[in-house]
Amino acid sequence: MHDFHTHFVPEDVITWIKDNKKTLQAKWIHKDPAKEDFLSINDKWAFELKYEFIHANLYLDQMNSAGVTHAVISPIPQLFLYDFPAEITSELCSVYNNSLANWVESSRGQLSALATVSLNNPTQAVHDLKDAMRQGLKGAIIGPGLNGQLLSNPHFSPFWEEANSQEAIIFIHPLLSEDPRLKQRMMPNLIGVPWETTICATDILLSGLLDQYSKVKILLAHGGGFLPYQIGRLNKGYEQWPLVSNNLNKQPIEYLRDFWYDNVLWNSSSLEYLAKTVGEDRIVPGSDFPFDLSAWPPEKKFSKGTTALLGK
Ligand SMILES: [Zn+2]
Repeated sequence: MHDFHTHFVPEDVITWIKDNKKTLQAKWIHKDPAKEDFLSINDKWAFELKYEFIHANLYLDQMNSAGVTHAVISPIPQLFLYDFPAEITSELCSVYNNSLANWVESSRGQLSALATVSLNNPTQAVHDLKDAMRQGLKGAIIGPGLNGQLLSNPHFSPFWEEANSQEAIIFIHPLLSEDPRLKQRMMPNLIGVPWETTICATDILLSGLLDQYSKVKILLAHGGGFLPYQIGRLNKGYEQWPLVSNNLNKQPIEYLRDFWYDNVLWNSSSLEYLAKTVGEDRIVPGSDFPFDLSAWPPEKKFSKGTTALLGK
């Protein structure tokens, strides 16, 4: 079984964070005696630095015992570093991507990986992606935009052009929603995270980007957020308003088949609906391991998207 949605932080990255502790405002917080330290960067989204995140052997043991035969490893969203000057971001991208490339190389086919790129400087992001793919990485994981700029903004065109020409996998991974109404009961994660994907994917769909860059393989996290469920509303808007249909060559529901989706939904009815709506060949298994909200072992159901996404 494959796992397309899983995260790891190599030792070189931890060393780099320690070396740049001050610049990053990196803090190791001892929250709970029963847990590992939490790491926070720039006072945002602290996460428990579990052993599985940082110890390669332990990660591989867990993978083997869960029956995952091949994992596509992604960097961790908390380390995208889009809020920092691009030279800092690109330095970490280079450390992270090189380290993952080395791990992949020594894994005898058990691992693939996606890069992190300097989305805060799209020209640099092009270099980051090129370097990473030259080293054998399959594409990149990126956030759903930055500073209020959605990914269809022409600012990001150089990145999309490069990703398209390389037929890269671009895994769009949400960050915690900063909506001030979602401050309690874990709502920034529970609904804020899929909401961020919903906004990003809806914008990409309506912008016409999927026709413009038809070779890039866009993978949406957590079953595409709420977008597949609300697609009827987009279709209705498409019939009603030129502002919705202007950039499109077909109905919004047909564009849903141009994305790929992981199956991290924890609900079989939701997953069945997704498969029925977008097609089984657009769904890949994922876990979000080793985050707290992970599907572990990954849900086996629906994995036909694997071939198209990985070419095997
Ligand atoms: Zn994730």
